[in-house]
Amino acid sequence: MIPRLKPTLGFAEFFAALRPGARDDVQNFEREFASLMGQSHALAFPYGRTGLVMLLEALGFKGQEVICPAYTCVVVPHSIVYSGNVPVFVDSEPDGFNMNLDLAEEAVTPNTAAIIATSIFGYPVNLDRLEAFKKRHPQIVVIQDCAHSFAAEWKERPVQQAGEAALFGLNISKILCSVFGGMITTNDAQLFGRLKDVRDRSLRPSGAGKSLRRALYLAAAYPTFWGPVYGLVNRMERSGFLNRFVKYFDESVIDMPCDYLESMCALEGRVGLANIARYQEVIRLRREAAEYYFHTFESRNDFMLPPKIDGATYSHFVVQVEDRKRWLKQALRRGVQLGQLIEYNIPEMSSYGGRKPDEFPVSAKYARTTINFPVWGGQRVARKVGTVVEGLV
Ligand SMILES: *Cc1c(COP(=O)(O)O)cnc(C)c1O
Repeated sequence: MIPRLKPTLGFAEFFAALRPGARDDVQNFEREFASLMGQSHALAFPYGRTGLVMLLEALGFKGQEVICPAYTCVVVPHSIVYSGNVPVFVDSEPDGFNMNLDLAEEAVTPNTAAIIATSIFGYPVNLDRLEAFKKRHPQIVVIQDCAHSFAAEWKERPVQQAGEAALFGLNISKILCSVFGGMITTNDAQLFGRLKDVRDRSLRPSGAGKSLRRALYLAAAYPTFWGPVYGLVNRMERSGFLNRFVKYFDESVIDMPCDYLESMCALEGRVGLANIARYQEVIRLRREAAEYYFHTFESRNDFMLPPKIDGATYSHFVVQVEDRKRWLKQALRRGVQLGQLIEYNIPEMSSYGGRKPDEFPVSAKYARTTINFPVWGGQRVARKVGTVVEGLV
């Protein structure tokens, strides 16, 4: 069975996890991460969402509005709420999966403090339009959400460098993995200082229990993503058995994991540092797989390919279909697991007002029609997936 995602973890990460820790493991990871992203500073957090909560605190925002996409990971508005601010949702653009920046313009009020410019699925946010926005509203802080888009570039400019700060996620579904974890990067030395103060004041040190939990999770991840075993895991997932372990949100509550205030542990720092060595290869494989799919398929009414954009890193190759359930089921029967990621339009959730789909029509459509193809294995795996998909279109 071909799984929808597969973390790029090998011996190096495994041995890094086993190695006895040093106090500066996390700092070394931060330093290398900052340099990889071409940023002056990076700060590690237990989750990306924790980083975002603290970034908004370090910026001094309270009771203010933060613009974010309606179609993004639900942890983003959760973080805005946890920081004591109010998310203001903006619909997606019709010809791409990112936020519609014209509508973002209309959402600005005197109380708008920040905009979370997300490069979803590896698609770079349009920096020309974002800069025009920033020129008209110089007081609004731009936060780049790069959780999907490590290394995505808009006209050869890396998106993470085009804002006051950038956010990254580092769990096993992301481009880089430190077991769990998140990073905030910035070039602003003052903001870095304030963020570090907030972090060091708010997070408790990680305990031995956390290292053990992370080590066990990592040890489980290796065999789990191995083909034959993954078939079994998938059956358990479908039977609902795994739901209480893997379901990461409940649409009626706004919450955080219970250890979201426990620092990244040294083991995670070492695993992340080892994983950086694979970074270029991980991105190369994704681009190669996307290239193969673009080359092999053509868009039709009930099978819409994603836009092809220079500088995209294709963390996910997202196709829109009419009958998503049928696709997932039939591909699975033929040994390919397709993903459905962000299968919700956040403003429709009861915790965010239970708004009508037609208030955010584009996001609502993406929430109902998108599936994604495995991209982790480059052309080799894409070709196998392609054969199966060709039988289904
Ligand atoms: C993964 C992700 C984050 C951060 O997630 P954490 O699980 O908190 O590390 C933020 N934004 C988007 C769009 C994401 O996909």
